[in-house]
Amino acid sequence: MSTYLDHNATSPLHPEVLEAMLPFLREPVANASSLHAPGRMARSAIEQARAKVADLLGCQSSWVIFTSGATEANNFLLKGFADPEAGRPVVSSEIEHPSVAETLQQLERQGQAVEWLPSNELGQVDLDRAKEILQHINPQILSVIAANSETGVIQPVRELSDLVNRSECLVHSDMTQVAGKLSIDMAALNVDAASISAHKLMGPQGIGALAVNRKPLRELISGGGQEKNRRSGTENVAMIAGFGRAAEMALLEIEARYHHLLVLRERFEKGIKQISNAVIFGEQADRLPNTCYFAIPWFHGESLLMELDKSGFALASGSACHSEVTKPSHVLTAMGVDDSLALNAVRVSFGMSNSIEDVDAVLARIHQLVDSLPLAMRRAASM
Ligand code: PMP
Repeated sequence: MSTYLDHNATSPLHPEVLEAMLPFLREPVANASSLHAPGRMARSAIEQARAKVADLLGCQSSWVIFTSGATEANNFLLKGFADPEAGRPVVSSEIEHPSVAETLQQLERQGQAVEWLPSNELGQVDLDRAKEILQHINPQILSVIAANSETGVIQPVRELSDLVNRSECLVHSDMTQVAGKLSIDMAALNVDAASISAHKLMGPQGIGALAVNRKPLRELISGGGQEKNRRSGTENVAMIAGFGRAAEMALLEIEARYHHLLVLRERFEKGIKQISNAVIFGEQADRLPNTCYFAIPWFHGESLLMELDKSGFALASGSACHSEVTKPSHVLTAMGVDDSLALNAVRVSFGMSNSIEDVDAVLARIHQLVDSLPLAMRRAASM
């Protein structure tokens, strides 16, 4: 078994979540739209879960629409609410997840105006630049990620939301990485809509939600009218029940999780900083407690990753592999990081199952690998 250090990709199920799901997997589950008693039982499980997800986000239950995950939630929000006829732009940032960035690029090709807010070198949406840009436009939608999945850098969502005309602009945030790691209060953040995925908070894969305080212009999935006509299709009761329990547990454990994860990350980063010229991206910014995105100048990210994989450590690389061409992360490019350094990026994201022993073991292996590099390479990199 590998030591799993890739929790921003997906986190293992919380034992309570499995317990909540099992009854709906073991026994036949009725269609929640049916009027008979088994149908009403399924409906009740869905509505309880909806209330728990709403509690996690600090919004009303009626805002929560279950989706297959944050990708669908982001697509739904942008495609369901953007109105190219309105002649007003959608504003987003250069450091979004592809489920926002690619969707907006698709809308752009269909004639929707889109403005992209730049990042500063710390990996935060640049507020000064945002002020300048937003002075001249009246966006119909502002969509900004709450914390970046690669760097873990927390974004100034509230400050950005204060820069737009709130009576005319729908403010959305992709909160996928924040959920379960930091408290969320949609009202305090002054946002109308949020996307999350259950598997980032120890829930099952393939279920998530869009919470939004108004009706879309168009449905993404038409059919039998489930989810108040917003997202048709028979509900996945087991997954929804698991998501509800994951949200409930996250809310109960939020502080304990934060402290556990921060201790691990700080210990890890202390060890990484002992390697000469190692870089931690976004180090000076407020970050998620579990995420460390780093690069060792003379060590190609994928080589380091594969070496660690051989030794039983599962980490993520920072580059995207498309058609065998390895490209630097768009997030690091937006932060002004050199391509050569960006290609060395590796991400560690800790989870609740990790321990101090895991941190020490992976650090020891990284140091061993670095020490085994030819001295000339290390010297060249430290010049
Ligand atoms: N947004 C962010 C910030 C993410 O990290 C992810 C998953 N990596 C998604 C959206 C998409 O989530 P899913 O794959 O569960 O649809």
